[in-house]
Amino acid sequence: MDLVSQLRRLPKAELHLHLDGAVRLATAIELARDDGLRLLDEEVKRRMVGPAACLNQAELLTFFDLPISLLQSEASLSRVAGELVEDLAVEHVRYAEIRWAPRLHLERGLSVDEVIGAVASGIARAAGAIRSPVEVGLIVTAMRSHPPAANVELAHRAAAFGPPVVGFDLAGPEAAYPAPPHAAAFFAAADGGLQLTAHAGEVRGPERIREVLDLGVSRIAHGATSADDPALVDEIRARGVTLDLCPTSNVQAALVQSLAAMPVAVLHRAGVSVTISTDDPTVSSTSLSRELADTARAQNLSAAELADIAVNAFGRGFGPIHRRRPLEVKARQAWQEWAAANPSLTGSATAADSKPPMDRQQSR
Ligand SMILES: [Zn+2]
Repeated sequence: MDLVSQLRRLPKAELHLHLDGAVRLATAIELARDDGLRLLDEEVKRRMVGPAACLNQAELLTFFDLPISLLQSEASLSRVAGELVEDLAVEHVRYAEIRWAPRLHLERGLSVDEVIGAVASGIARAAGAIRSPVEVGLIVTAMRSHPPAANVELAHRAAAFGPPVVGFDLAGPEAAYPAPPHAAAFFAAADGGLQLTAHAGEVRGPERIREVLDLGVSRIAHGATSADDPALVDEIRARGVTLDLCPTSNVQAALVQSLAAMPVAVLHRAGVSVTISTDDPTVSSTSLSRELADTARAQNLSAAELADIAVNAFGRGFGPIHRRRPLEVKARQAWQEWAAANPSLTGSATAADSKPPMDRQQSR
C-alpha cells in the first residue's frame, strides 16, 4: 500500500484548515448557479485552485475571492461546513478545527451571529447525518485589514457564541497590515474564554511572528520563517507555542521554493512543537494524508518523527481536553504501531537518533 493510503487509514487531527479554502468545486458550481451565475468547470477550477507557486501571499489570497462571494447565505455556509466535515471523516480526521472570517460573509445582510450559527449548524447536521466521528471546534478569524474596533466586536460575538467556537485568529495580507492594532480584539477574545492563534510568517522576516507572540497566542498559523532566527526559535520553544505548519501552502505563497526547503524537520528536531495541516485543501489541491506523506518524504522524516508530529496535533487542539484526550490516546497507539512496522519512510532516513521523547509532545 502506498504511503498516502497508509496514512489515510490512521486517525488524524488537523488544526489549520480554512472553510473558504475547502469548498468542493462541484458545490461551488451549484452555489454559483443558485446565484444566477453560469460558471464552467474549468473557470471554477482556475479561480479556486492555486498554481504550484504564486508570486506571493497576496496572489494566493485571490483564490478565495470566488468561494467567499458564494458563501453569503446561511444555507451556503451551512452546506459547505457540513460537506467539509464529511470530507474530513473520509480522510479519517478525528479532531479538526475549522476556521473562517465571519466578517467576510456579511455582504448580503447576514449578521456575525447568523454567520457563526450557520457554520455551527452545518457541522452539527453532518455529525448527526453521518454519525461523524469527527470532533470539530471552530476558530473565528479576524482580518488584519479590517478596522480594529470591528474586530473587538467580532471577538465579543465569538466568545458569546460559546461551543463549538473554541478559538480566535488573525489572518489576511500580512505585508501591509501589522498585528498590534488588533491587540484589543485578542484581549477581548481571551477575556471571553477563547484560546488564541494568529497567522504569521507568510512573508519573510521575524517581525510579524514576534508581533503575534505579543498578542498572547499559544499557537501560530504557519510561523515557518522563525527558523531563520535562532533567538526567535528559542522564544517559541520556551513559551511552548505550537506552529501549525502548512508546507504546500507555503510553497504556493512563494515563501519557500519546495517542500524540501520547509523547516519542518529542523524545527521539530529543535524541540519546537509543530503540527502539519493542509491550510486550504481545495486551493492547494491536497488532503491531510497527502500533505503528511509528501512532507515526510521531502523532509526525510522517520516514521517515528512523523507519528510524533501527527499525534501532537491532538494534544495542541483548543477543544475541551476531555473530548480530545481519548482521541489522542487511540491515535498515539495507532501511529506507534504503524511506525514500528514502517520505521523508514524514504530508505534514507537517519533521524531516529534525534527523535524527541513522546512525553514532550503531550505537555500543554
Ligand atoms: Zn491559514
